[in-house]
Amino acid sequence: MIVDVHSHIMWYPDHVGEQWAREALASKLVKLKFSGGLAHAASLDLHSYDSTPETHWAAAQQTDKTIVFGLQAKATGTWVPNELIADYARQHPDKIVGWASIDPNEPEAIDQLDHAVNVLGLRGLKLGPAYQHFDPTDRRHWPFFAAAQRHGIPIIWHQGTTFPSRAKLRWSTALWLEDIALDFPDLRMIVAHLGHPWEEDLVALIRKAPNMYADISAVHYRPWRYWQAMVTAMEYGVTHKLLLASDFPSATIDNVIAGLRNVNAIVEGTRLPTIPSEIQERIIHENWKDALPELL
Ligand SMILES: [Zn+2]
Repeated sequence: MIVDVHSHIMWYPDHVGEQWAREALASKLVKLKFSGGLAHAASLDLHSYDSTPETHWAAAQQTDKTIVFGLQAKATGTWVPNELIADYARQHPDKIVGWASIDPNEPEAIDQLDHAVNVLGLRGLKLGPAYQHFDPTDRRHWPFFAAAQRHGIPIIWHQGTTFPSRAKLRWSTALWLEDIALDFPDLRMIVAHLGHPWEEDLVALIRKAPNMYADISAVHYRPWRYWQAMVTAMEYGVTHKLLLASDFPSATIDNVIAGLRNVNAIVEGTRLPTIPSEIQERIIHENWKDALPELL
């Protein structure tokens, strides 16, 4: 079963501003250049990162289940209503799994989370300190994480670099999540994008944190880094914690699967180590079961 654990709905200009859209396009053009054609672009203008329920649903046909969320981040001018995600998920209950995004800086963040889970029926939470400008080690946010743990929902974290110039990268490496992993042992957490380009930090953390996983979205665009990250994950014995994900509209799941099956191409003809196909196929078909058994 193909499960995509990370995809988005958002579009310009309703949910993101012009600056975001311009910077998204610039980053998209670089990805298209190095990804060997394995990236998705809605268009090559300010709508390059648009993902509407219609285009998302078309892409989701490549999967058995797709997790989808928006992003609420006042600091970077992004705001996708959780109701939009919930409405869309409700229309396709067999395939689409809606998660919330909540800005932890909001004074009512815990109430918003309770509402998202209890009323809207959303089943996970997306956070991104780089976009939301918050320090994940700040104990003021502990009650919020405690609420997520109480609900039994997983959190997916954008820990890694990103393109908006207004993002703050200082809280973006995976190690900023270590205290949360220790203090909330029943809170499942997925770090997106292998924590790129700080993949070593990510591997070091998920190796020792039983409640932490990572997704492989948005890394196949950079074949040299991707191969290194996957070898690091293999040598530290954590490839069973890597989950398939598209980050649609960045890419489709077919793009990501093709990128993964092609991960060794860059070292072909050398004596450098390669990622065995059994490891690749487990990421594609199996690994989600341990992290997200509620989807079984
Ligand atoms: Zn994403």
